[in-house]
Amino acid sequence: MSEPSWGERARNTFPGGVNSPVRAFRSVGIEPFFVHRAVGSRLEAEDGRVFVDWIGSWGPLILGHSHPAVKAAIAEALEEGASFGACSPREVLLGEEIRSRMPWCEMLRLVNSGTEATMSAIRLARGATGRDKIVKFRGCYHGHSDSFLIAAGSGALTHGNPSSPGVTAGTARDTLVAHYNDLDSVAALFKANPEAIACVAVEPVAGNMGVIPPQPGFLEGLQELCQRHGALFLVDEVMTGFRLSRGGAVERFGLSPDLVTMGKIAGGGLPLAAFGGRRELMEQLSPLGAVYQAGTLSGNPLACAAGLATLQRLDDTVYTHLEALGAQIEEALTAQFTGLPVRVQRVGSMLTIFFHDGPLYSMRDTETCNTEAYARFFRGMLDEGHFLPPAQFEAFFLSMAHSQADAESLVQAAGRQARLALGA
Ligand code: PMP
Repeated sequence: MSEPSWGERARNTFPGGVNSPVRAFRSVGIEPFFVHRAVGSRLEAEDGRVFVDWIGSWGPLILGHSHPAVKAAIAEALEEGASFGACSPREVLLGEEIRSRMPWCEMLRLVNSGTEATMSAIRLARGATGRDKIVKFRGCYHGHSDSFLIAAGSGALTHGNPSSPGVTAGTARDTLVAHYNDLDSVAALFKANPEAIACVAVEPVAGNMGVIPPQPGFLEGLQELCQRHGALFLVDEVMTGFRLSRGGAVERFGLSPDLVTMGKIAGGGLPLAAFGGRRELMEQLSPLGAVYQAGTLSGNPLACAAGLATLQRLDDTVYTHLEALGAQIEEALTAQFTGLPVRVQRVGSMLTIFFHDGPLYSMRDTETCNTEAYARFFRGMLDEGHFLPPAQFEAFFLSMAHSQADAESLVQAAGRQARLALGA
């Protein structure tokens, strides 16, 4: 009898063989590879195949895999202990670094995942406003806490429907769902729910339905609607924070949020996230205020060290480089896809190749994507040595480790594989 594979062992131990669903590669119809190690832009699988990685752990690795400075910072912190459950200086250093980049984040609290950050931020929003309802956008993802696993229902003006079994109808009653890039849909919710909405949560550039940029005026309009109706404006920067500029999307688009959430890059590849905002709001958190929030491993010294080492390397030259690399890849891919129903959408170093004719503005447009062609495209690209997001409605994350050669190889392979995937 041959030894069972990692895949077989994993499927025996974890539901679907994974600890997060997208890793199962279900949307692209193959079994996932197992990673042996990763350095720079390269992932090496257990079976010896090497791929250029265009995901970077879904965003955190803006410096690439195994960056020497990040590794050294983690090793140095580890010498002093892996967790204390008590105050330590690295938390303060990371917190100050974040505040210096995001001055609208007058105070913040460190947590362990983006899910925790957004879950805690809406609790604070509800506690501070004394209102129960929140607004989210169809297709935006803010982690897997109950309040966010809500789809638009037939009674969308009054409440949403659970998008997962296990989320109660009671919870769904308090989440309202609007359409991205559609201010009228938000205004209608405010009108139908007077003085009931605590906050509006938004991905400032949508990445979780594939990259969908905010249309000019959308984010500003949301901010204004929130102000007018006494709701808090919650910008979820888990994906965009420290990626779209030194201070994230808020800086890039010139916004003034009440609350922001961040994660991914803030932890440099280790589990760390945060939420923050105006001082008088944040002071309502325990132990100063009555809104409860806590965490055994929050502010973990290894994660703080990795986050700090990463952020300290993110200066203007990094963002200029990533913008140029992104623009170059977008332009070259778009040229390759001339005459094909394939569209590239990009903001900074976030990009999606949609098997779709014409621009996409909201989740409504994603419904006409050719996901079967994307699955064939993904498999073809993997055979050519490029690891793309294993689902159509996800983003590529460019990093400082991607070389010109990586970019050129991606573009050439994508041109060939898109044609094959479409039978063109
Ligand atoms: N918010 C956004 C915008 C995200 O993209 C994600 C994860 N991709 C989350 C929240 C949840 O973060 P986590 O997976 O760390 O819980």
